[in-house]
Amino acid sequence: MKKGILAVVSGFSGAGKGSLMRELLQRHGEQYALSISATTRPPREGEEHGREYFFVSKEEFERMIEEEALIEYACYVGNYYGTPKEYVLEQMEAGRDVILEIEIQGALKVKERFPDALLLFVTPPSAGELEKRLRGRGTETDEVILCRLKRAAEEAEFMEDYDYILVNDNLEVCASEMHALIQSQHLRTGSSQEWIARIREELCRF
Ligand code: 5GP
Repeated sequence: MKKGILAVVSGFSGAGKGSLMRELLQRHGEQYALSISATTRPPREGEEHGREYFFVSKEEFERMIEEEALIEYACYVGNYYGTPKEYVLEQMEAGRDVILEIEIQGALKVKERFPDALLLFVTPPSAGELEKRLRGRGTETDEVILCRLKRAAEEAEFMEDYDYILVNDNLEVCASEMHALIQSQHLRTGSSQEWIARIREELCRF
């Protein structure tokens, strides 16, 4: 059986990554596995341990680092976030494409460790639209919104490190594009080493 693809999705806060993941899983739930990260930040209202995140103490998180139980981890706004290794490797082995929705430092570490990983960056069509979406949530103060926009400006410096930029103008279209990009990764020569070895061996018999 073919191994699954490791796909990393990052993007500005307010780019619509969460809705995009939901749409993709709703359409192709059997094909994808969404990794659940560990974090030391406290749960927000409505969040559940083991669903949005594994909420752990700083000591527990540091133990996971020591035991090399994480594929990558990063410190983001004062808290640790990391990707547990076991689930990701198990799902890829079972042929499922695993999606990590993580920030930039973590994404670059994943690429170093797994050069075949596909890095996708999601952005709204313009800075004005990003501001509109952040204000539209109606849950944050002007100060927080400005802080997120400033952070987006910093993050924009790393966009070229990603394999593809996905403009999330229309959720359905963007989800289709994301699915097509991940699926086309299965056809790359790097993901087909076993297949290539087999046909070479067969051809040698002539
Ligand atoms: P939030 O606290 O809003 O849920 O997440 C903050 C940031 O952490 C988001 O950009 C999210 O993508 C990122 N993040 C979530 N899980 C991980 C992880 O396992 N590793 C890294 N590096 N970033 C993560």
